[in-house]
Order: sequence, then C-alpha cells, then structure tokens
Amino acid sequence: LPPLPKDAPIGILQDDKFSRYSGATMFKELPLSKRTQDGLKRANFSKMTDIQIASLPHSLCGRDILGAAKTGSGKTLAFIIPILEKLYKERWGSEDGVGSIIISPTRELAGQLFDVLKTVGKFHNFSAGLLIGGRREVEMEKEHVNALNILVCTPGRLLQHMDETPNFDSDLSALLAREQVLVLDEADRILDVGFKKTLNAIVAQLPKGRQTLLFSATQTKSIQDLARLSLKDPEYISVHEDA
Ligand code: ADP
Ligand code: MG
Repeated sequence: LPPLPKDAPIGILQDDKFSRYSGATMFKELPLSKRTQDGLKRANFSKMTDIQIASLPHSLCGRDILGAAKTGSGKTLAFIIPILEKLYKERWGSEDGVGSIIISPTRELAGQLFDVLKTVGKFHNFSAGLLIGGRREVEMEKEHVNALNILVCTPGRLLQHMDETPNFDSDLSALLAREQVLVLDEADRILDVGFKKTLNAIVAQLPKGRQTLLFSATQTKSIQDLARLSLKDPEYISVHEDA
C-alpha cells in the first residue's frame, strides 16, 4: 500500500476497507482508462480535491457512496469518472441502451454537469442526453431516450418520460435492471424541491448489482433516510475542508 497523505481526509483514515489507491492525490495515480485520463488532462484537471481523493478509490471499486461535501468541492467529477470507467470496463455500446442515470435538482445544475461530462468524456464513445424539460421537445426526446447511454435529468422530466415515453415506462424495470450506475447529485436539493416520492419510486426498483452514488452538500435526516433506502453497504464520506 502506498502511504496515506498526511492531510488525508477523515473518510479515508477511518475506513478499514480502503483500496490500494487510497493514497492517490493526483488523477494520474488512479487506474483510469487512457480515454478518461486524456479527458481530464485536456480539461486541466490534475490534482484531486478532497472529496475526489476520499471517494474515488471506493466508487471505482464499484461501491455505493454517500458523499457529503460543501458546494464547490468537486463532487461532479467524483461521480462522472466512475460512470465513464464502469461503462468502459463493461464495453458498453450503442446497442446497450441506458447504462447510467444522473439525477440533478435543477436544469441549471443538470446543464453544468452535462458540460463536464462532455468535456471529460470527450474521448469515450458513449452517447449522452440532457433531459431537463423546457429546452427541448419531450416528443423528440422520446424517440431517442432509450438509445442513449448516459442520461442527465431533472427528477420531473424523468418522471414525465416514465409516464409518457413508449417503452420507457413499460421497460422501466428492464431499463433499471441493466443500468449500471445511478447518481443522485445534490440530493439534499432534490429533496428540497419536493421530489422525495419520485426518488423513492426510482430507488425502490434497485436491481441487485447496481451501483448508486449519492452526493449531497449537507447530511440531513432525510438524506440518511434516502441513503438507507437506496444504498447497499455504502462508504460514508464526509469532507469538511475547513474543519
Ligand atoms: P460541487 O458539485 O461539489 O459543488 P463542482 O463539481 O461543481 O463542485 O466543482 C466546483 C468547481 O471546482 C468547478 O469549477 C470544477 O471545475 C472545479 N474542480 C473540480 N474538481 C477539480 C479538480 N480536481 N481540480 C481543479 N478544479 C476542479
Ligand atoms: Mg454539484
């Protein structure tokens, strides 16, 4: 095992199951595909942030994560990288359909993380779609949504597709059964905007073997409840940069 960095976040130090990459502080030290490494390089990401240091060694091993870190701490890459790596490892292709769903509370945040996905995922061949309502016609989306590999959506729009898109609704359990990685981003805000029921409906269909990454800026009681419902044997990672 490489030595732990002196200032390693507490999540690593308290965890007796950390993988042998827990000492890594640079992206290049992680066992990532060349495609992802090239995407990170091109976007000028080299040194990991604390939440990335603490969570990636676990999420890259396929574990569920409950990650709490304040806004601006770099949670987006902490889930985009494991998605790219998982689908790449599975040789996910255009015929395989939806391999990952990322749920984000607002259109703005969904749009921002979609941009990060496009930048860092630039050298991969996955298709990705932004389902956020308003900006695009839902009718047009319906024809394509089942063919996309990575969906970035707001909870309302995802619900709408479940209700209205042929084969999306009826194939939902099949879709979720094949899905590899579910991300609930800014989960505290998703709950704040009133989508507790939607989230519960989605996570209630958890197939065995799916990886779920739950990220939040705060650790509230509702987040703990959601985590209990949606995560299997998760790594609890809490990073407080100023603590
Ligand atoms: P959060 O979701 O925790 O609020 P973001 O993922 O949106 O944070 O990242 C906040 C900012 O930090 C973004 O501008 C992002 O580009 C930048 N950032 C994230 N990770 C790194 C990194 N490893 N190195 C440099 N900048 C980073
Ligand atoms: Mg974020």
